[in-house]
Amino acid sequence: MAEAFQHHWGQVYESCNPHEMNHLVIDSIDRAAGTAKVSFPGGRGGRDRNRRRRTIKLSSLHPTGMTRTGSRRRSGYRLMCDHPKPGQEMCGICYYYFDRADLNSSECCQPCAEWLEQKFPTHAPDQ
Ligand SMILES: [Zn+2]
Repeated sequence: MAEAFQHHWGQVYESCNPHEMNHLVIDSIDRAAGTAKVSFPGGRGGRDRNRRRRTIKLSSLHPTGMTRTGSRRRSGYRLMCDHPKPGQEMCGICYYYFDRADLNSSECCQPCAEWLEQKFPTHAPDQ
């Protein structure tokens, strides 16, 4: 299983450190150097992904949040969402990829839209 894991452009990772809520997306990979250029989604609406770029070692981008011995990782990043299929785009809130048709006009997925609506019921019709 671990052997089959491949880093890939577009994969979304989240920090293994529970005190950090960081997510990052692979922009490009230099396999020879063992590094990836990554950027950070979110910021203003997520759509114009925060263009701060960083180079990170592939060895700190893990397929899961567990080590081979079964303990929780405390550092590095774990894969959260695999790379997008053709026609898929990132939800600006949860950073998962969805088919374009499943994102609403504010670039977020249905579950996120419902969550937002519950949390900030701004669109509730006036009685
Ligand atoms: Zn979402």
